[in-house]
Amino acid sequence: MRGAVIHAPGDVRYEERADPTIVEPTDAVIRTVAACVCGSDLWRYRGISSVPKPTPIGHEYVGVVEEVGSSVTSVRPGQFVVGGFLTSDNTCAVCRKGALANCLHRTGYDGCQAELIRVQNADGTLIATPETPADDLVPGILSLSDVMCTGWHAAVSADVRPGSTVVVVGDGAVGLSGVLAASQLGAERIIAMSRHASRQAIATDFGATHIVAERGDEGIAHVLDLTDGIGADSVLECVGTTESVTQALRAARPGGQVGWVGVPHDPEFPQQHMFWANVGLRGGPAPVRAYLPDLLERVWSRTIDPGRVFDLTLPLAEVADAYAAMDERRAIKVLLQP
Ligand SMILES: [Zn+2]
Repeated sequence: MRGAVIHAPGDVRYEERADPTIVEPTDAVIRTVAACVCGSDLWRYRGISSVPKPTPIGHEYVGVVEEVGSSVTSVRPGQFVVGGFLTSDNTCAVCRKGALANCLHRTGYDGCQAELIRVQNADGTLIATPETPADDLVPGILSLSDVMCTGWHAAVSADVRPGSTVVVVGDGAVGLSGVLAASQLGAERIIAMSRHASRQAIATDFGATHIVAERGDEGIAHVLDLTDGIGADSVLECVGTTESVTQALRAARPGGQVGWVGVPHDPEFPQQHMFWANVGLRGGPAPVRAYLPDLLERVWSRTIDPGRVFDLTLPLAEVADAYAAMDERRAIKVLLQP
């Protein structure tokens, strides 16, 4: 089979690789129907995270089950499935508490931007759709592999509830998904911080009631104008830089809560905006498998269309162009088709 391998910053190649096989009885092998590039993949592409050796890349996928190990019971060959960016057994002590991203037996993947994918912990990771989805549902289902569940996790971690005032920091695919999540969870006022017209338009369609284009002190001043001068009940941090975390903490009202899903790459931590303001900060990798049944139902019933974050579709063989397009911000998120 063929798949994407990152060799060095800026150097992603589509290469011949060994076909994955069933190694453990809990494994499944799936044939990819669609995959995509994550904002977090760009950390290595941009050289911010290191690439010590050529490494298969990608962790978002939907596909059709080819083969399952002898102990797999919840999915069978021929079914259309989606799974999260980490695998989980859904049975260990941590999973039973609902924190499935921290499963004691979690694993990653050997590159999902590929024609075939080995999925470990198949029973605790994959969920099958009721039937083979219509083509136009595939992007929405694919978004549940990471980006929509991550936006949802930001909203849940920020304690968004009916009537909440919400600020979303970050207008990438996760931030836009966070807007949609906040809207679905009943937020009354959703302020999307975005400087790009095309992203503002999606944010508005997803439920944003206000757009704030400024950043820094000006951005905070505009947020305060829209929140009775006190800041938002809930803030979704969907970037991960010190600047954006600081912006998120400052946008929260006293006693407010920040949901943090932007992967941090900087040790600095703006404590001064937390302790004295009684602002909470909680988040991390999303427990995808915990959110999947509910969110798949919302997509399947066409209640939500989170697949709109994909604004470019390319053949998987052109995966290098997909990275370039996202790196250069020519695309919000690229869907790849084998
Ligand atoms: Zn577990």
